[in-house]
Amino acid sequence: MKYYSLRHQSPRVDFRTATVTGQAPDGGLYFPETLPKLLPGFLRELRTLSKATVALNVMQPYVGNAIPAADLHGICAEAVDFEFPLVPVAAGVAALELFHGPTLAFKDVGARFMSRCLGYFAQRGDTPPVTVLVATSGDTGGAVASGFLGVAGVEVVILYPSGKVSPVQEQQLTTLGQNITALEVQGTFDDCQALVKQAFQDADLAKRRFLTSANSINVARWLPQQLYYCFAAQQWPEGAAPPVVVVPSGNFGNICAGLLARASGLPLGHFIAACNANEPVPAYLRTGTFTPRAAVPTFSNAMDVGNPSNFVRILELFDNDLTKMRAALGADTVSDADTVAAIRQVWNEHGYLLDPHGAVAYTALRRYQAEHGETGGMILATAHPVKFPNVVEPILGHAVQLPEVVQALQGRAKRSVPLAVDFEALKAFLL
Ligand SMILES: *Cc1c(COP(=O)(O)O)cnc(C)c1O
Repeated sequence: MKYYSLRHQSPRVDFRTATVTGQAPDGGLYFPETLPKLLPGFLRELRTLSKATVALNVMQPYVGNAIPAADLHGICAEAVDFEFPLVPVAAGVAALELFHGPTLAFKDVGARFMSRCLGYFAQRGDTPPVTVLVATSGDTGGAVASGFLGVAGVEVVILYPSGKVSPVQEQQLTTLGQNITALEVQGTFDDCQALVKQAFQDADLAKRRFLTSANSINVARWLPQQLYYCFAAQQWPEGAAPPVVVVPSGNFGNICAGLLARASGLPLGHFIAACNANEPVPAYLRTGTFTPRAAVPTFSNAMDVGNPSNFVRILELFDNDLTKMRAALGADTVSDADTVAAIRQVWNEHGYLLDPHGAVAYTALRRYQAEHGETGGMILATAHPVKFPNVVEPILGHAVQLPEVVQALQGRAKRSVPLAVDFEALKAFLL
């Protein structure tokens, strides 16, 4: 498999180069040259296959010759080594729970897959030792830290804003040690992001340290998200019409992967991007004009994105044809007030606790069903409600029970390196 840059000013590369470099030299995102079709035999047998086998079948054509099948099988098995249950919530609505990974974030799968691919390339000497540099406002950093922990040949440096992440998130970032270093920045998330950007642009640094990022721009983090949809299809009732699929969306990496799986032949119905007040994509689907804006804060903060980085990939998938896109993909915008109302209603009537991101998706699905008749649908539950105590606890009336993986972090020593908002200080640290 070759990947081309969506800006078309860079050479085509294989999976290894796309993974190691992240972005094309012209600044474009990489996109696969062909869309592999899932084989009829695979689709027939899907329900009986293990998660690792499903993952190997889906990922192999994208990885091509870059990693031999036996090694790729091992990488796949580790990347999906937890549960992805499809849970009934109410009549006509099921939730695909993606928060049973080590950091309770759906980003665990992509982070684990990418880390093991990078580790494979580094150990074979295909690349110099790699430093993964990420800025986080919370969830991405934890998933990346946990995903890369102990991977030989890869150092991880995470910048987070001091005092601005939740206690659980800070524990996930700062208690692991080994090849993970947390830099506690005396500033905001935007400061962290600006420092990371500057590091990637520094020619002197580039000569002396091989830096790469770990966000969903990277194909090795983006593409394995197709697996969630395969695991959902394994569990969707046999013989039922394919589900309407509602995806809480921020940078649109996850939903774009789902659309890719659908284009490859996975039996899935209409897709809906569920957004909060940050709605450049819903506006695009309504008007045909895409206008990025500054992000506004909401309760579903992982989706507070004003200029979604993967939107260009969605355009490419539909050949830049709005009519084609509308035939497969809708979008909706849900306010914070409606988000809270949905959490309360679903808890009171069905005893199921949604997190704010899941509640945005639930609301979008209910609106779609009200307009289109009772088609069965599923929402992707992307975060565990325990991460949003300020929103869910007033509704519950008590604290949410901490899951075991989080309890295990309690009491472990925090280790972070304080850093001023000063690029020279970051550079000195990296060198
Ligand atoms: C990252 C994230 C999203 C958004 O996913 P994208 O792939 O960026 O659209 C949604 N919900 C949660 C909880 C997230 O952490």
